[in-house]
Amino acid sequence: MKGGVFRRLLVTYIIIMVLIIGLLSVLMSQYLKVYFFNNKQEELTNTGRQVETQLIRYSRGDLTREELEKQINLIGKVTNSRIIIVGGRSSATGANTGLDDELETILKKVLDGEKVVRRQQYASELSTYVVVVGIPTGAANTKGAILLFSPVYEVDQALGRVYEIILITAGMALAVGLILVWVTSRRISRPVIELSRMAEQIARGETVADASGMADDEIGHLTHSFNHMKNRLAETDRMRREFIAGVSHELRTPLTSVRGFIQGILDGVICTQDREKYLRMAFDETNRLTRLTNDLLDLTKIEAGVIKLNKQKIELLELINDSILTVCRSSGKDILASGVTVTPEKLSLQADPDRLKQVLINLLSNACRYTPDGGRIEVSAELTGSVVKILVKDNGIGIPAAELPFIFEKFYRVDKSRDSSAGGSGLGLSIVKDLVELHGGSITARSAAGQGTVFKIMLPRGEFPDSF
Ligand code: ADP
Repeated sequence: MKGGVFRRLLVTYIIIMVLIIGLLSVLMSQYLKVYFFNNKQEELTNTGRQVETQLIRYSRGDLTREELEKQINLIGKVTNSRIIIVGGRSSATGANTGLDDELETILKKVLDGEKVVRRQQYASELSTYVVVVGIPTGAANTKGAILLFSPVYEVDQALGRVYEIILITAGMALAVGLILVWVTSRRISRPVIELSRMAEQIARGETVADASGMADDEIGHLTHSFNHMKNRLAETDRMRREFIAGVSHELRTPLTSVRGFIQGILDGVICTQDREKYLRMAFDETNRLTRLTNDLLDLTKIEAGVIKLNKQKIELLELINDSILTVCRSSGKDILASGVTVTPEKLSLQADPDRLKQVLINLLSNACRYTPDGGRIEVSAELTGSVVKILVKDNGIGIPAAELPFIFEKFYRVDKSRDSSAGGSGLGLSIVKDLVELHGGSITARSAAGQGTVFKIMLPRGEFPDSF
């Protein structure tokens, strides 16, 4: 894997280098050529003027033909150019220009009075570029032409030097680049390799420490997310184990009782007149098992996201009264009758009636269970903005402050010694919380030992086309 990152970075780097060097070479050589040819062209034009001056002197008779030829040869040597003079009393110097084919066309144009400049003419015989300048002249009182040719060896030499510098620089850049690519690829690949090794360990069920290296970049971010995911997985695993332990414990207790009662009856340890009492106790235990399995099924469905809410318009007062009736009937207590206030009285909201009733029944059953006879339970609801606030208040035994943060956890019971016949499975409030949250709301509890308990539910009222 390290090789992978290293190779990819290296290939990318080399491609970029080659592109830059190539582009640089092309641009530099273009620039140099233009620069040298411009210079040469200017130089040749000046030389042409000097030649013309000599021709004028010759035509005036200031110079003899030999002197003229000598002068022109000298000019040609000093400026490293070949000079051809055509027309009038023409003479030619160094006629072998290597440009025989081109010569005709150039000459024709110059004789027609046009100044001709060929800047990047390649002369195959000289195997180099030449600059050609043709200047028309009337110096000898006849139409004539001065043609000047100059090879530009300097261009080739300068370009060669430039390529050399570029190559040396490229070599150095490649060496430095290799080191940088190696260091960078190691920096990238090392934590990635470590993370993948840890992921494999986690997949094998091994416990691993947090991944190290929290650089402030994408890799650091990945490491942070990985650690977070690892800890969440560990937490989920812990919760799963605790849940299974909780379920097993909850199942074992009633099953052990039922088994004991039946065993006692079968072995004749329980006498005939006590049998009915024990059978009734066994029946109560099976009821508890049914409640527990129902709660478990509910919880699993909610947490698996299988439960779909059937939201509709609900008259809250009606739903609260229904729930109170149900709890009264099953608990046999009538402490709830007092204290139901709903403001406004016809308060309605969008919710799943069965699920919301399940929430209220759960809270009311708890209130009933943990409030001694003669106690008082109050339910109130009010609309604040677009939120419906429901309070379920009792003046029962209350919950100690230290236990309060845990009451919504699965299988959590304040009084651990209390078994299901006295209390529930410890799943009730978890289900309540999940159902309220499924409605987009929240639930909190306020309580103190001996001071009663208040559960506060906040629910979004939902959209209504018409007002309540
Ligand atoms: P259970 O089925 O055991 O009642 P819950 O999840 O409904 O489980 O409640 C968790 C624990 O919270 C209970 O065991 C009880 O100790 C405490 N509790 C819940 N409601 C009340 C209340 N109204 N008054 C006092 N304690 C309460």
